[in-house]
Amino acid sequence: MTESRYGPTEASGVWLHLEYDGEKLEGVSRELLGKGRELADGLRVPVTGMLLGTALVSVAREAIAYGADRVLMAQHPLLDPYTTDAHARVASQLIGDGKPDILLLGATPNGRDLAGRLAVRLRTGLTADCTDLGLEQESGLLLGEVVGFGGGIVASIKCEQHRPQMATVRPGVFAEPAPDEARQGAVEDVAVDLSDRDLRVRVVERSVQRSAGITDAELLVVGGAGTGGDFALLEELASLIGAELGVTRVAVDAGWASHERQVGQTGYVTRPRLTLVCGVSGAQQFTVGIDQAEVVLAVNADGEAPIFDRADYSVVGDLFEVLPAMIEEARAALQEKETAGALA
Ligand SMILES: Cc1cc2nc3c(=O)[nH]c(=O)nc-3n(C[C@H](O)[C@H](O)[C@H](O)COP(=O)(O)OP(=O)(O)OC[C@H]3O[C@@H](n4cnc5c(N)ncnc54)[C@H](O)[C@@H]3O)c2cc1C
Repeated sequence: MTESRYGPTEASGVWLHLEYDGEKLEGVSRELLGKGRELADGLRVPVTGMLLGTALVSVAREAIAYGADRVLMAQHPLLDPYTTDAHARVASQLIGDGKPDILLLGATPNGRDLAGRLAVRLRTGLTADCTDLGLEQESGLLLGEVVGFGGGIVASIKCEQHRPQMATVRPGVFAEPAPDEARQGAVEDVAVDLSDRDLRVRVVERSVQRSAGITDAELLVVGGAGTGGDFALLEELASLIGAELGVTRVAVDAGWASHERQVGQTGYVTRPRLTLVCGVSGAQQFTVGIDQAEVVLAVNADGEAPIFDRADYSVVGDLFEVLPAMIEEARAALQEKETAGALA
């Protein structure tokens, strides 16, 4: 068996690869800081954040407020924007020097890309797209929960011999901790040895596409195959109540909506306060995306649909008849609120 660059006896600490949007930590990094802190407290070790990019002091302080004990800042113009070559080179050097026991990354496009490259460079295992993380009771090994075989099994994966124990976690899986601005921690600048000659890829242009924001939505209206591709009523209700629109994979595969709106195992995990699910059967690959939702209301024409097992409130009926009534109710409630506001 291939040996990792360092072994369990040399390894210590929980490390997190932190991502930021130029000014602030990405939500997934704040979520990882909460979970990383919990794991580190269980093992009685510190949490170290790795920040690679430019001009990051305020982001490093934010990471400390969210739970890091120490932040390693690697600053270099070639680290911003992200490229696989540059980030893998610098991160693997930091990891080789610091020898963390556990390394967590967000399952974002960049995090996924970097995690695979790092696992190969460090010659260790990677549990990708975890739906939960914990520690094995006796050994203290990281347990990564992963849904496999199209939702048929939930596997708990551990990495016994190789270090670091690596895992990626999708945005929205863990709750964000409350920040504590008074928390103390160390911010360390690390030397970066990078030149153009080391890199095979150069970014020549960058175009940023705004995501639909379903992972942060407080209110979510989801449409499935039962809509037949007609989302007009769902969109009307969503815009009335300030909700985001989500869809099932069937809707994406049919070309009715883009993947950034897909809820579920191969889409996004959401955690809204209220989710209205219309014309969705409730396959497990879909429901993992709304497992963390507080309240789920389902509308389905088939009273036996599995979605009703997950729903807190169920309406058996044709969505094209139920939704107009809901829209009317929502409009009346909003009007009442406006009138009350005007009279106050
Ligand atoms: C590896 C893998 C990953 C997957 N990942 C995802 C994922 O991330 N997200 C995802 O969603 N799926 C995913 N799937 C697909 C998943 O298994 C289901 O096929 C999919 O979720 C079904 O979508 P649906 O509920 O829209 O369609 P259907 O299963 O066809 O259900 C449509 C529902 O609409 C109801 N209906 C029809 N007409 C009306 C009406 N007029 N009014 C009210 N109700 C009506 C029907 O009774 C039915 O229950 C994945 C599958 C695999 C194998």
